[in-house]
Amino acid sequence: MEPTTVWQDCLSLIRGRVAAQTFQTWFEPLQVADLTDTKLVVQVPSQFYYEWLDAHYRPIILDSLKQASGVDLEIGYKVSNAMVETEESTGPVPTVKVENNGFSKATRLNHRYTFENFVEGAGNQFAKAAALSISVHNGASQFNPLVLYGGVGLGKTHLLQAIGNQMLALTPDARIIYATSEKFTLDFITSIQRNRTDAFSRYYRSVDMLLVDDIQFFQKKEQTQEQFFHTFNDLFQRGKQIVMTLDRPPAELSGLTDRLISRFQSGLIVDIQPPDLETRIAILLRKAEQEALDIPFEITEYIAQCIKSNVRDLEGALIKLLAYSSLKKEEITINLARMVVQQILGRNAAAAVTVDEIIRTVAADFDLREVHLVGKGRKQELAHARQVAMYLARELTGVSLVAIGLHFAGRDHTTVIHACKTVAAKAEKDPALRAHLEMLTKELANPVF
Ligand code: ADP
Ligand code: MG
Repeated sequence: MEPTTVWQDCLSLIRGRVAAQTFQTWFEPLQVADLTDTKLVVQVPSQFYYEWLDAHYRPIILDSLKQASGVDLEIGYKVSNAMVETEESTGPVPTVKVENNGFSKATRLNHRYTFENFVEGAGNQFAKAAALSISVHNGASQFNPLVLYGGVGLGKTHLLQAIGNQMLALTPDARIIYATSEKFTLDFITSIQRNRTDAFSRYYRSVDMLLVDDIQFFQKKEQTQEQFFHTFNDLFQRGKQIVMTLDRPPAELSGLTDRLISRFQSGLIVDIQPPDLETRIAILLRKAEQEALDIPFEITEYIAQCIKSNVRDLEGALIKLLAYSSLKKEEITINLARMVVQQILGRNAAAAVTVDEIIRTVAADFDLREVHLVGKGRKQELAHARQVAMYLARELTGVSLVAIGLHFAGRDHTTVIHACKTVAAKAEKDPALRAHLEMLTKELANPVF
């Protein structure tokens, strides 16, 4: 086996399994040093690097190594100071150069993350507005620092990088650094090991704007916090903009020094909330458009209905769907979507049905045609079936009243409310209707694959 080939294969597997920034920070700099029958040795820049890598990514590395080589290989590390110095810790910020894969090495910004492709909704509107307003200042805005916080996969990194990209678009020679707090920590520790803390300080203090992602990783790292605090103060006093993201409210950070926290209070702290259904659908439609993926609305709605709290998972579902449909040359159907959602969320979470399925099932059950069920006809039998369908849609899906109305020839949400109340009142008095609703619910809950 050729060591470089094995390692390259292994790397491409890992690339698919970790976040892009993680890959860039922890895997790209690794070089293969040696390969025996039982062990692959990679060269790492420092002891800290190796410890971090081993503590966080060992299972992924071993597993990918096994897949790439076909045998069980151990992984070994060799700490090498002779390794090429990273440009980060050696000198001033280099001029921006865009790499093929969309990353710019100098700023570490990914050009995919822009304000244009960030879909706005109630949960992120304010955060986006604040981010946008900062990106037009070459220097500190009135919101300094800006802290964006929110749960995983809600677009913090996207917004943070969009600020950088936007500012560069307006001011091409602005000096911007985007760093995860892991990367900041790594650079700091590496600089100590190489006696180059001066270079480290110079590098991080030479910018017009510092973007630090996921500062929760600073927790309990006192020395690094100290460094960050000094960098922060230095930039702040010289009127440079600082933007940070965090996965929880600042008050819930334990092990972050009070003076660092109180620094945040002098700026603006904004939260990002999970997107509502309409925003989730809009995000999916936008992504589908970007991927030139032709996907029926029913399926977009179904995915958005099931995956509620993480935009990354929403995207993941779409990409999986794309992969399946192109690999197996299958059409994108609701069952395919259901399978993909189950893979992402686990079986139970994916039991949700779509409004369209309810309409199909109810129509079949009442022996009506779907067009009639959703249409304008006012015959009593028809009206009853329609109300039952609306009632079930309300009970079984997370779809809003307005959106349900849209499935029924654009009826108003008050009509849907009326239908739900009517059916509920009737069912209370009528055991046969209750049984019927139960039967329909059961049928819908167990879709045939
Ligand atoms: P976080 O940093 O909060 O964990 P990310 O910024 O990495 O989340 O977002 C996860 C993925 O979801 C990214 O690919 C991002 O582009 C996408 N994303 C998140 N929010 C939105 C949005 N409002 N519009 C479009 N894409 C979004
Ligand atoms: Mg992030």
